[in-house]
Amino acid sequence: MAATFTTSFSLLRRARLLRGYTIPNAFSNTSLDRFRPTSAPLRPQRFVRYITASINEAASARAAAATADDGGPTIFDKIISREIPSSIVFEDEKVLAFRDVNPQAPVHVLIIPKLRDGLTQLGKAEPKHAEVLGHLLYAAKVVAEKEGIAEGFRVVINSGPAACQSVYHLHLHILGGRQMKWPPG
Ligand code: 5GP
Repeated sequence: MAATFTTSFSLLRRARLLRGYTIPNAFSNTSLDRFRPTSAPLRPQRFVRYITASINEAASARAAAATADDGGPTIFDKIISREIPSSIVFEDEKVLAFRDVNPQAPVHVLIIPKLRDGLTQLGKAEPKHAEVLGHLLYAAKVVAEKEGIAEGFRVVINSGPAACQSVYHLHLHILGGRQMKWPPG
């Protein structure tokens, strides 16, 4: 157990997820007060939440990195072809919008181009994609109106493993229905 903590903390330290905190080299018979913030003091509960979030974030990043952008078909192809069901909220000739299976807000809709055309991620965009990218963004506004969140919503695009992208078919997350926080994780 101690070894697991030691490994996790040294990984986090190396990953610079714990900037500003003093982390002991060994997680021996110690208590949380050894983890003294070098700047402002932090209550133990907040510190534990911070550690947990950091570990989850690192795990998500690893999971996303494991899903390589190999240009192969994705689950979204099956959603477009209706091979697997989804809750579709909007579509036109170019884009499809459906509810995220794992919603992060009361409204969480994904908008994807029906033709991927090399757009596995935003980082792969080329000049020829400018039109569909604009179309996706306009569709985001249309979806926000349909969902009743037009007065305040967030559009997210995760591009690549460092952003925890997990499905390599470009998609916009439309999130709303609750107060969003900033900065994002
Ligand atoms: P990413 O992490 O790549 O930015 O987002 C992928 C999103 O696709 C995730 O939020 C995930 O919940 C969603 N997702 C993955 N598989 C399915 C699925 O089969 N159906 C639906 N509706 N959403 C999915």
